Amino acid sequence: MKLCLLGHDYKYAVEQIFLIFFPGEKPQYEEKPPESGDRIVVSLSQSQGEYVAEAEIHLKGAVERSAEVFRPSAADRLTLRRELQKYLKLAFYNAAVKATGKTAPWGAVTNIRPVKIPTRLLESGVPEKEAERILREEYFVAPEKASLALEAALKSISVKNSLEERDISLYIGIPFCPTRCSYCSFVSNSVEKSLRLVEPYLNALYREIEAAAALVKDTGLRVISVYIGGGTPTTLSAEQLRALLDKISASFELSALREFTVEAGRADTVDEEKLLAAKSGGADRISINPQTMNDEVLRAVGRRHTAKDVENAFRAARKVGFRVINSDLIAGLPTDTPSSFRESLDVLLGLSPENITVHTLAVKRGSRLNEGGFLLSESDVREMLEESAVKLRSSGYFPYYLYRQKFTAGNFENLGWCREGAESIYNICIMEELQTIVSLGAGGVTKLVAPVSGRIERIFNAKYPYEYIERIEEEISKKEFIKEFLEKYR
Ligand code: SF4
Repeated sequence: MKLCLLGHDYKYAVEQIFLIFFPGEKPQYEEKPPESGDRIVVSLSQSQGEYVAEAEIHLKGAVERSAEVFRPSAADRLTLRRELQKYLKLAFYNAAVKATGKTAPWGAVTNIRPVKIPTRLLESGVPEKEAERILREEYFVAPEKASLALEAALKSISVKNSLEERDISLYIGIPFCPTRCSYCSFVSNSVEKSLRLVEPYLNALYREIEAAAALVKDTGLRVISVYIGGGTPTTLSAEQLRALLDKISASFELSALREFTVEAGRADTVDEEKLLAAKSGGADRISINPQTMNDEVLRAVGRRHTAKDVENAFRAARKVGFRVINSDLIAGLPTDTPSSFRESLDVLLGLSPENITVHTLAVKRGSRLNEGGFLLSESDVREMLEESAVKLRSSGYFPYYLYRQKFTAGNFENLGWCREGAESIYNICIMEELQTIVSLGAGGVTKLVAPVSGRIERIFNAKYPYEYIERIEEEISKKEFIKEFLEKYR
């Protein structure tokens, strides 16, 4: 499809709408509006302080147009850029709906954090009903998604109000897994291939933990949540896990800790000894993530465990005394169907996790599944998500955080559900960028959030374990930037 931008260069914003209506197609950019064939022109003009964002789509001989006329609400550059992109997307979205007959569940909202829109509105004094109406009528968000976003926004505001300026979360990455799932695009190494790296990796990580703990102390920051993720942290032996958790609690001052999560994603890595090591090391939440409770689907995505293994892991976690168990399901996995997804959810509900996050499969670059096309139809994925929402609500769960990813089937979302009081503060903080998250280990991205201005800066650790081990001194010194950031923006 030929695409021409006139009067602006907001390529990314335009491409996000393009992706919704023309998935799998690559835009061919033209400097001047082409005169024939299927084509899209998205233009921006300004006259006497008023802007006009317009889209014109020529598709199969028909032409559709849409325009948005607006005056910027504030003079600062950031607000102006945000508004220009918003109206360009709205104009393009409207024209594309008319041209293709398609709509999208999240309308013209393309960012991965849709909850930020109602959050901003509520914080500026807009009443709840009005915020929901704006999502529906001004961003064309489907009514059920608008109400989910509003619920999550209320939860986010309540967590934000409970935080102090010095509060931070700590993320520690263990980038090893027993085998690689076919949909995985993380920097995760299968242990079979990288067993020799585990010990040197842990040694490097201990050095980073010590340095980060000293820095947190010096700067007067306070850790309120710890999250050990991956990869699959329970790929480590019980002894290694125990040593890691001991290192964390010996290094950091954790008296203000509100939650401590260990991901035990793959049931084939979980046993009672490891769970005990995590529990006695201070963890109170654990994630056991089946993704599906159907053995055939598990095999199809390259996970070497069965649904029975997941049930056994649950039993062991309950026996050991975990307060909260989180479980992830993915809608849209290869060979799954709406009816087997329904059965998976039923089996999982029978195990009574406090948290269930329902993801939509995203076929990303870097995953083995990325060989063309989405695997399940949009309508199948929609059915899975809609049915799961009804069932989860009627089973006493409520939605508390949500985010979206690129390349998900049907442009749907990932939605976290939980029982009252079992929400993960870490999940809300990371998705809504409510506080600084200091990330240690390979692939870790430290996100610094200035509490008042909301300014965000990132520090990237080396991606792969071998690089991380080699460059550990550099990783440690990079974190000095935290001091600079706090001096400037605190
Ligand atoms: S368990 Fe998670 S991180 Fe590990 S291979 Fe599977 S999807 Fe990737």
